[in-house]
Amino acid sequence: MSTSLEMKNIQKFYGPLHVVKDFDLHIQPGEFVTFLGPSGSGKTTALKMIAGFETPTSGDIFLGKQSIVDLPAYERGIGMVFQNYALFPHMTVAENVAFPLTVRKAPRQETKEKVDRALELVKMEQYGGRYPNQLSGGQQQRIALARAIVFNPGILLMDEPLGALDRHLREHMKIEIMRIQKQLNVTVVFVTHDQDEALTMSDRIAVINEGRLVQVDDSKSLYGKPKNRFVASFVGESNILPCQVERVENGAGNVTVAGIAPGVAQLTGQSGGDRGWLFVRPEHIDIGPRQPSPGSINALDGVVENALFLGEMTRYLVRCGDETITVKQQNRGLGHFPGGTQVTVSWKPQDCTILN
Ligand code: ADP
Ligand code: MG
Repeated sequence: MSTSLEMKNIQKFYGPLHVVKDFDLHIQPGEFVTFLGPSGSGKTTALKMIAGFETPTSGDIFLGKQSIVDLPAYERGIGMVFQNYALFPHMTVAENVAFPLTVRKAPRQETKEKVDRALELVKMEQYGGRYPNQLSGGQQQRIALARAIVFNPGILLMDEPLGALDRHLREHMKIEIMRIQKQLNVTVVFVTHDQDEALTMSDRIAVINEGRLVQVDDSKSLYGKPKNRFVASFVGESNILPCQVERVENGAGNVTVAGIAPGVAQLTGQSGGDRGWLFVRPEHIDIGPRQPSPGSINALDGVVENALFLGEMTRYLVRCGDETITVKQQNRGLGHFPGGTQVTVSWKPQDCTILN
């Protein structure tokens, strides 16, 4: 049975180093939540505190209604998969998968049935008699996954489980992990620094920066409405231009973009006089021949630095004053603008937001 997980005001210090700050997070039973953040942001530390390999400096963690911070790792009933597989080299695949049951002193017949079922689930039922060093990286990771789920944990933690696999295998394992999670209906906390993994796999993503939860949201909200500059630049590709809010009118901001052009943008709490960052996705920018009338709203004159034809779309880098704007344009018989072309790029007020 899947279980809920709650982290309540969790802090973690290593000496003077504050690596996990004010973590408050409630995960529903059966939910797939990803911790996404750059290297060193505290993801592994947060996961280890849930698993019981690290103790929070303060705060509480609940599985269902039970506080688990004082329980040793092996009594928490949590499955865990590490990046480096961590299989026991001197044990066969079947013995590796059986290990969590063996330490729980499960009866022999029950152990065999559960190991068979777990190996079947990861499509490795033929490999029970092999040793880890006779398996490929992807196969070892499947065994690690089978070992993590063999005792029917209510929650499964995975720390960058795909990090060591090549791209092709990674794509395949992504889908496998999603299938297994649905099949078992197990709660998952998945850790990655890879935004594509996070966006495809998760019900919700918890973006972490410097030990802090910056935004917890589903993929679409995170991509469409990032809360601040960090999330906007870390999730998906974006243009982030310095700007100044001149006036607020009808809830929107009249802004000066990059010190050169007038614009109108959505606000996130700013008022007149504030400085901020104008955020607009490359697919929301139009590119066209240089417009004769300067000074139109949300338009910058520039020169194409680079035009990369990618089949269904073209990716442009356009130099506009001190800024380089990325534009992604679908190729639907529209004009193509080779390097050196004088162009105007523009975007709609509803497609740009001022972030702090
Ligand atoms: P991530 O998994 O996001 O890359 P970590 O949780 O591993 O980040 O690390 C967060 C910060 O805590 C880093 O600055 C790291 O150097 C530090 N850190 C991690 N483990 C320890 C430890 N056992 N002792 C001291 N510092 C640590
Ligand atoms: Mg880590």
